[in-house]
Amino acid sequence: MVTLTIDGREVRAEEGVTVLEAARENNICIPSLCYHEEVAPYGACRLCLVEIAKNGRQRLVTSCLYQVEEGLIVKTNSERIIDNRRMIMELLLARCPNNKVIQDLAKQLGVEKTSFKLEDNQCILCALCVRVCQEVAGVSAISLVNRGVDRQMATPFYEHSEACIGCGSCAYVCPTDAIKFEDVDDTRIITMPNSKLEFKLKKCKTCGKYWAPEKQLDYIIKKVNLASDAFDNCPDCRD
Ligand code: SF4
Repeated sequence: MVTLTIDGREVRAEEGVTVLEAARENNICIPSLCYHEEVAPYGACRLCLVEIAKNGRQRLVTSCLYQVEEGLIVKTNSERIIDNRRMIMELLLARCPNNKVIQDLAKQLGVEKTSFKLEDNQCILCALCVRVCQEVAGVSAISLVNRGVDRQMATPFYEHSEACIGCGSCAYVCPTDAIKFEDVDDTRIITMPNSKLEFKLKKCKTCGKYWAPEKQLDYIIKKVNLASDAFDNCPDCRD
């Protein structure tokens, strides 16, 4: 265990955890959009900036990537941090001016308008969907493509991704609802910023309800070597 100080409070944290994790563990709120405890941190949104003091020097670091250290002094809300966060928020607001999550967070951080050129996106390019698809679903069906202003989250060649199993994990974690999924009758529709994917849902042999994408169930059967009829019934109708 190490002892550090966050906003004047002495806290203990396990070695190896990040400053963001240590802060949240102690109910100290640091804003973030791209962090999720199930996947490796990426430091994309940079909203979780904090100021650390070490060896007499102060600097800004992204708290989702910076690990706790013995004696570290952390500030989460100094004037310097607030200014930087507001600048980041202005950039996000310019990128996604019509996104409710971004609008609400901007307001919360005291940003009413942006001085940057307005675009019309919903995706903030945080790559949380990409990381979840790779690390949790184990599929890697989507990625960030292109560079600079052309950077986008996309399926390969913007076409139907053969690798995608329709699990919906990407939509579930997307912090700005840029990816959506809905089940309509026997079809799951996943809508991404640049593509729309459709998956046939499996019908329960007992109750007749459509309950999960056939492709996702086939993937699980192969991955964990289950009997081919393992998912013939939905969870409600299983013994
Ligand atoms: S729905 Fe497709 S792209 Fe999204 S996490 Fe699942 S496999 Fe990946």
